[in-house]
Amino acid sequence: MDSSSLIQPISHFQQEQTTVERIAELKKRPVAMEVKGLGKTFGDSKKSVRALDNVSFSVYRREFACIIGPSGCGKSTLIRILAGLETPTDGEVLVDGNPVKGPGRDRGMVFQSYTLFPWQTVRENIQFGPRMAGISGTTLTSDADQWMEMVGLEKFANHYPHQLSGGMKQRVAIARALANRPRILLMDEPFGALDAQTRAKMQRHLIDIWKHVNITICFITHDLDEACYLSDRILVLDAHPGRINEFTEVPVERPRSPDQFLSPPFLSTKKHVSDLIHPPTVVDDETKLVLPKMTKVGDEVE
Ligand code: ADP
Ligand code: MG
Repeated sequence: MDSSSLIQPISHFQQEQTTVERIAELKKRPVAMEVKGLGKTFGDSKKSVRALDNVSFSVYRREFACIIGPSGCGKSTLIRILAGLETPTDGEVLVDGNPVKGPGRDRGMVFQSYTLFPWQTVRENIQFGPRMAGISGTTLTSDADQWMEMVGLEKFANHYPHQLSGGMKQRVAIARALANRPRILLMDEPFGALDAQTRAKMQRHLIDIWKHVNITICFITHDLDEACYLSDRILVLDAHPGRINEFTEVPVERPRSPDQFLSPPFLSTKKHVSDLIHPPTVVDDETKLVLPKMTKVGDEVE
């Protein structure tokens, strides 16, 4: 059966009234981060790679935005520029109206690879940023306790990273980023290395954290389910050079629950974004392959 026939009941553009209102409300909020005409070229004139070209978009306060696109389309470059870890060749990024000139405490970052200090305990890792900012004493201790509670790791305060599972390490990484009280949390495929079950658990947990902490989230993923489940809008990037294809509104109601994974709005959004990334008219070279027949009569399968 053609997979598209399974999800015909609702078009991506037939949004429920509640969704239309939710997205309209979102766009009335102040802009948390504005990206203007961003471009990035790596290398010199002899051998250069145009990683990003003319990327402009705004993320609203308390929005959960996902960024998706094929491998190599510039997602990590984009988020590193947002974090101030990379300088753009063209354009600029504004956070609450102020130009980004480098890394800052207003933006927290969580990477896919585990970036905890291996010689520090969970508590010490979480306290690192605030300690650098001059916070000490009971405030330092009670704040760390609160963040450990937020990520459910109170009982692991004195454990070292090597004693933790992958999911737990990422929970510490989230707590460590949030302990600096950022306005924006930037996440680059943070659950990409986790097994499917842990990943699903972490997605639910992240939504809960987002509800309880006053942050705006920009989250990179290449997993369509993850993007549709988490976000208000999905920024779809094209590759070579990385350009915006569409900033897609996700017509899945909030609060989100895993039951929605098979709902018509969820599936139609997933199909819509998938078609943007892999246009259906492009015939994959693999489908053209003519293979030698190596089965005997009677052994054929469909
Ligand atoms: P994604 O995260 O979407 O997979 P990246 O942002 O990592 O993509 O890379 C986008 C493009 O920029 C790729 O072609 C990559 O090879 C190139 N690139 C990324 N970082 C560098 C770098 N430091 N020097 C040269 N080229 C780079
Ligand atoms: Mg990347």
